[in-house]
Amino acid sequence: MSDTPSKTIARLSTQSSDFERELTQLLAWEGVSDASVQQRVDEILADVKTRGDAAVIDATNRFDRLSVSHIDELRLSAAQLEAAFESLPDEQRDALAAAAERIRCYHERQKPTSWQYEEADGTVLGQQVTPLDRAGIYVPGGKAAYPSSVLMNAIPAHVAGVRELIMVVPTPDGAVNALVLAAAHLAGVDQVFTIGGAQAIGALAYGTQSVPRVDKIVGPGNIYVATAKRAVFGQVGIDMIAGPSEILVVSDGHTDPEWLAMDLFSQAEHDEDAQAILVSWDADHLAEVEAAIERLLPTLDREAIVRESLARRGALIHCADESQAIELINRIAPEHLELSVAEPERLLPEVRHAGAIFMGRYTAEALGDYCAGPNHVLPTSGTARFSSPLGVYDFQKRSSIIHCSAQGASELGKIASVLARGESLTAHARSAEYRIRR
Ligand code: NAD
Repeated sequence: MSDTPSKTIARLSTQSSDFERELTQLLAWEGVSDASVQQRVDEILADVKTRGDAAVIDATNRFDRLSVSHIDELRLSAAQLEAAFESLPDEQRDALAAAAERIRCYHERQKPTSWQYEEADGTVLGQQVTPLDRAGIYVPGGKAAYPSSVLMNAIPAHVAGVRELIMVVPTPDGAVNALVLAAAHLAGVDQVFTIGGAQAIGALAYGTQSVPRVDKIVGPGNIYVATAKRAVFGQVGIDMIAGPSEILVVSDGHTDPEWLAMDLFSQAEHDEDAQAILVSWDADHLAEVEAAIERLLPTLDREAIVRESLARRGALIHCADESQAIELINRIAPEHLELSVAEPERLLPEVRHAGAIFMGRYTAEALGDYCAGPNHVLPTSGTARFSSPLGVYDFQKRSSIIHCSAQGASELGKIASVLARGESLTAHARSAEYRIRR
């Protein structure tokens, strides 16, 4: 795949005649579940729909290796969440509280407002923004715990004014993570059920005797969760179907190669399918970063995952100049974009597609993952072409407002009458005509 083959990470060049094919291959990602996953998810969802709590309990016992007999054993109260927060060591409690405060502050600025305007004849038109009544937050818990995901999903919902927040998080083998529960307390979650997978998505989508039915489900998860979210979409809203995490770093050649290597690793350590790409017009710099990668890899705790991810989906791309780098950014539409250059604000207006943009050499993506303030739930797999980070707006709806004056109804009635008769909808036409002033 590369001009200069490397065992650890591919080296590509935009000058190569094969570059277009190589790039397409690099970006290819097929996120669909296979038939057996689909079938299992369909069975679990159908069972939850018919048997409710009993089906949730059975699936939880089976897949999370528990032996509960009543749903109350899978329910945590607000008091238990608060106790988890109080139990944390000071350092963790302070870090979590500081992150929560920054995330809340950022999202407060995102709040859309209702608006109205009045026309000359007294007719008023507008838009009213209202929060969802109830949102469900899926927090993954199969292989790792993600307190930062609790904050990033729940705080925008809370800021949006959602009346009730229900969180689900699996606890395989009964392992409850205090940081996750503490984050739920800080973020204003009302109820937590320690359930996961397709059974948790089904419970939130259909409601059971104990789990309240929600209006929208947000949050990442494994293939069972993603497949179940896709299946229930329509009965409830969902945020997105997230693919593996990605980063694209653009460097002007003057950032410390070790910083860049670690930024690539920080993405690659998520999982073997994660994607880390560095683009630069400085070939010597790319070679230095490659050397730093080799040097630092053995120092990583998750070396095996990082090696696999870099070998499968990583790349160092040499391009001709800055404008070619911008073309690549917009072509890739990355989830995370680091502009590791002297004047990132000069490039910013050229960036049309990216989930989150990290400006300058000091802004490591990891800071955005935890505590900078903006949301870390971002569009992946090129979907930044048409979608945005999770935000307050995802937990709100907009209703249109029309308030006609007598004169306004008369004027609009004339237009509506003509158009309705053109569509042969005569009841529409007559309804409008009644209000026309003679
Ligand atoms: P998870 O909570 O998504 O899945 C665990 C659940 O899967 C279990 O409770 C079980 O019910 C179900 N399950 C497991 N094996 C099953 C089987 N054979 N049949 C039926 N159901 C089964 O936790 P996870 O597995 O650790 O996955 C978390 C995912 O979320 C990872 O892919 C991770 O990368 C992703 N993630 C993404 C972000 C983001 O912001 N994009 C953040 C955190 C995590």
